[in-house]
Amino acid sequence: TYFGFEKIATGLKEARVGAVFSSVASSYDTMNDLMSLGVHRLWKDYFVRGLDPGTNPLSASPPSNALPRGWNILDVAGGTGDIAFRLLDHASNVHNDYTTRVTVTDINLDMLAEGRKRALATPYARSSRLSFVEANAENLVNIPDNSVDLYTVAFGIRNFTNKEKALREAYRVLRPGGAFACLEFSKVNNTAFDAAYQRWSFGAIPLIGQLVAGDRDSYQYLVESIAQFPNQTEFKDMIMDAGFIVPGRGWEDLSMGIAAIHKGIKP
Ligand code: SAM
Repeated sequence: TYFGFEKIATGLKEARVGAVFSSVASSYDTMNDLMSLGVHRLWKDYFVRGLDPGTNPLSASPPSNALPRGWNILDVAGGTGDIAFRLLDHASNVHNDYTTRVTVTDINLDMLAEGRKRALATPYARSSRLSFVEANAENLVNIPDNSVDLYTVAFGIRNFTNKEKALREAYRVLRPGGAFACLEFSKVNNTAFDAAYQRWSFGAIPLIGQLVAGDRDSYQYLVESIAQFPNQTEFKDMIMDAGFIVPGRGWEDLSMGIAAIHKGIKP
């Protein structure tokens, strides 16, 4: 790092991401609905169904101790709790599992505050099954090595300054056999549809952001961060480089690749 420029650039990205999410925290649902035309809800449902959280068997491999103890799930960049509530609902309603717990971590206090507020409308508000913790995905200081059964990150990783470092942290905190699962905007795999999608992204979304939330810049950032994120294969390679074993081809496209689910297992 020449004269610390890299450090300054890192700080700038973190500051920008912080400002964006503080600014959109209260209009977060509207933002997601607008950006995905409401489809993010279906993607999130699908993501969680595929992970099938709940007592035995853990799809990756069963917990090493024989007693059903529920899963210890870490939802990173969990913001407003969208994924965490779905994970807990699934464990309870599908598996009658009331022991699985989720720790939501996020770097942004405004997003965590929004999540705590929204948790009040769920059965988990005062339960030990749900906790909110401020943490940077690149340095999960209070999460011990080999302690997590399932690590989820949804629409979070593209905002991280150092994605490789975050993947290495995911690897560190997961127990052997534990699963990394990521839902993120990705690259559209159909040329004609991609042209329309790009017009929608760069044309409509910042404009809607301006009109609905009075905040063009944040929405412009979100569209740019999607465009800059690695494609499906590149991201799969990054997951493998962090040490994970990748099942099958490593990802599943959703809505022609607008979003994708990537998974990795810690050997
Ligand atoms: N997972 C939620 C969902 O799917 O609705 C929230 C996604 S929101 C688009 C992205 C979140 O990533 C924000 O809450 C933001 O604060 C968080 N974030 C950005 N950089 C982060 C980092 N380095 N560590 C942890 N969280 C981060």
